[in-house]
Amino acid sequence: MIDFTNTQIAFEAKTNADLRRAKFLFNAIKYQWVVKLGKVFVYITRKLKLPVGWLLKPTIYKQFVGGETLNKCTPLAQQLMKYNILSIFDYSAEGGESAKDIQQTFDEFMRSIEYAKGNDNVAYTVFKPTALVTDKVLEKASAKIQLSDEEQKQYDEYIQKFETLCRRAYDNDVRILVDAEDYCFQDAIDELTEDMMRKFNKQRAIVFTTLQMYRHDRLSYLEKLYNDAIKNDYIIGMKFVRGAYMEKERERAKQFGYPDPICATKEATDENYNSGLHYVIEHIDKFEMFSGTHNEQSNIVLANLIDKYNIARNDKRIFFAQLYGMSDNLSYNLAHEGYNVTKYIPYAPVKTVLPYLIRRAEENTAIAGQTARELELIKTEIKRRKTEKKQKNAPVFDNKIQ
Ligand SMILES: Cc1cc2nc3c(=O)[nH]c(=O)nc-3n(C[C@H](O)[C@H](O)[C@H](O)COP(=O)(O)OP(=O)(O)OC[C@H]3O[C@@H](n4cnc5c(N)ncnc54)[C@H](O)[C@@H]3O)c2cc1C
Repeated sequence: MIDFTNTQIAFEAKTNADLRRAKFLFNAIKYQWVVKLGKVFVYITRKLKLPVGWLLKPTIYKQFVGGETLNKCTPLAQQLMKYNILSIFDYSAEGGESAKDIQQTFDEFMRSIEYAKGNDNVAYTVFKPTALVTDKVLEKASAKIQLSDEEQKQYDEYIQKFETLCRRAYDNDVRILVDAEDYCFQDAIDELTEDMMRKFNKQRAIVFTTLQMYRHDRLSYLEKLYNDAIKNDYIIGMKFVRGAYMEKERERAKQFGYPDPICATKEATDENYNSGLHYVIEHIDKFEMFSGTHNEQSNIVLANLIDKYNIARNDKRIFFAQLYGMSDNLSYNLAHEGYNVTKYIPYAPVKTVLPYLIRRAEENTAIAGQTARELELIKTEIKRRKTEKKQKNAPVFDNKIQ
């Protein structure tokens, strides 16, 4: 059994100053009013075009973001590699819908694939489909609503960009994760990702689809995918997450009067997630798998399954993944035990990455148990280091009789 409470291993890479900063941050964002105030502050400073970098860069940005550009993130990837943790660089630009924004984001996704080529520090590349087209067009396409000529043109360009990213990943022998997003876009994203897997995953998984296991229909979709992979002879790239948009999804289902797509309870989501892990390991010949979770129990389930089925811990088909700045106790202890681990590292200039940072803060407030756990571990490690230092500095008495 892995000891996820081993804080010495968990924070091996962190200086005392890093720990103090993390303690301060997690202490602050556990309060809803702090996060709300932060949101208002960010909104006002953006409206007035005031610089916020001086405040955010040494604090929340440093905790959760790798840097402004891929090259600036290189030292971080090298440092993680020392602890057998690989990186995934996630260009975190959200919300830009103009043709220029879309093109810029696409160009950056392409750069990240070039950066990953032959780079042993990088485990996967990743992109968000919604960054490649407007929400309106993707939502209509997903609901199979007739597009206007102009919308059809935009949708065709989106498909072309999506395929270009997958093809470049294939040509560079780099794996590419397709992030999952809101329910209203997901059918169209799934359909296209399936096409890409049929095309590029013949020998190994290059393209990875993402299943949000808070959706109660995802286990049956997983079985459907498996049957499709048998029929069409390809390897499924499977990224599991629980899902990030629960409140929004429940609200939207109520508003538009369709059945809530999310499991009724947290326990049902947990069971779904762990059943997905079982299913894939039991059919591993047809899969490569990425498990993106901060849930301790799910990480234990996967580690035990790997051992039970005599799969090598460093078998490159299976990776554990956590977000940069969170759950180091899982990442570092899993890597220490020889499992494959990777961190999702967002990168972008401060201004661009703000929506991501707000989501991280909100998530940490919402999942109160997780923030409390982060804090408790950080405090334990600070205390452990103090005790260790005291013991080192204590005078050594020579008991030998002269
Ligand atoms: C490496 C990585 C990549 C990610 N990529 C994506 C992505 O592409 N798309 C995406 O949507 N998210 C993504 N996420 C976020 C993820 O979906 C979760 O929101 C987040 O990780 C918290 O879930 P957990 O499994 O870590 O932990 P936990 O704290 O155990 O689970 C919290 C999650 O459980 C579910 N949940 C909570 N309460 C209930 C309830 N009452 N009923 C039903 N379900 C409930 C929700 O999904 C919630 O986020 C990613 C996370 C990681 C670590």
